[in-house]
Amino acid sequence: MGEFDLIARYFHRPDGQGPRHAIVPNGDDCAVIAPAPGMQLAVSTDTMVEGRHFLSTVDPARLGHKALAVNLSDLAACGAKPLAFTLALTLPRVDQAWLAGFSGGLLALADEHGCELIGGDTTAGPLAIGITVMGEVPAGQALLRSGARPGDELWVSGWPGEARLALEAFRGTLVPPLDGEAFEAVRLRMERPTPRVALGLALRGLASSAIDVSDGLLGDLGHVLKRSRVGVEIALGALPVSPWLATRPLAEQQDNVLAGGDDYELLFTAPAARHAEVLAAGQAAGVPVHRIGLLQAEVGLRVRDGGWGAEEPTGQPVANRWTSFDHFKMA
Ligand code: ADP
Ligand code: MG
Repeated sequence: MGEFDLIARYFHRPDGQGPRHAIVPNGDDCAVIAPAPGMQLAVSTDTMVEGRHFLSTVDPARLGHKALAVNLSDLAACGAKPLAFTLALTLPRVDQAWLAGFSGGLLALADEHGCELIGGDTTAGPLAIGITVMGEVPAGQALLRSGARPGDELWVSGWPGEARLALEAFRGTLVPPLDGEAFEAVRLRMERPTPRVALGLALRGLASSAIDVSDGLLGDLGHVLKRSRVGVEIALGALPVSPWLATRPLAEQQDNVLAGGDDYELLFTAPAARHAEVLAAGQAAGVPVHRIGLLQAEVGLRVRDGGWGAEEPTGQPVANRWTSFDHFKMA
């Protein structure tokens, strides 16, 4: 099977199949797209390399899903609506069963979000997947890392920590080990993450800053604090702990939630006065949102071992063992 047959079979959609936003769609030298009037384009790229970002044994449909999901997650963090993407695929060989699975998982998620595959590149080499995604956002309204203010509340969506639990189960480091049912559940969260696109859209005009959690909650929070020139106090007792994580030793729960990564949850800030609106946004988007901290003028990261008092985290200060935690871990 030649390169052009491969592209035609697995990555060109027949007319009427899949979303269509492009003025000139896939198949020419360039695709041509334009955002709607009054909208701006938000653009992001992420590459996944075999052995570094995924195991060679991973199911190809899950891999196709995840390759696009991590990119859609960046759009979500900016409050952008998915429009289109390109795919740079480097393949060691033409494996039709693999390609069918991969394109199936990829295009199913693309269709779910109305995101059109408008072009790409296909070459021979070690397995790697590069995706560039484009979304639209009303002019000037993209959510940024730089907008957090003292007095804002810090929120995180969903259940951070489960992807890391799965990774450690694969590595065989867990004592006690996970049982089979728990392993399959958290493994899905690692191999097939759900980008929080609807939440990102619901947070437009509401969140003061946002980022998606790819490298670990506290590490990614550090980017927001730095860009916004603020500090934060976190309430350990307010962290969301998923039912699967809750079965683990307490220190392991905290390590996974605060430093796990690969979850693609949204971490965002909003004025305390808009607390109820944030809860409503989570409800409308179908994902729980949890208030975990309070932004402060004094720079730095402070962790307390209590829950939430009347207006702020309570309890004693805790030494931060997480921000340098596994800094050079396998992504
Ligand atoms: P060119 O040589 O003009 O850059 P190619 O021969 O690489 O174009 O690709 C032919 C067409 O197929 C182009 O429209 C390109 O965008 C598209 N294409 C190539 N690889 C992929 C892929 N992996 N996924 C989707 N579209 C692709
Ligand atoms: Mg060309």
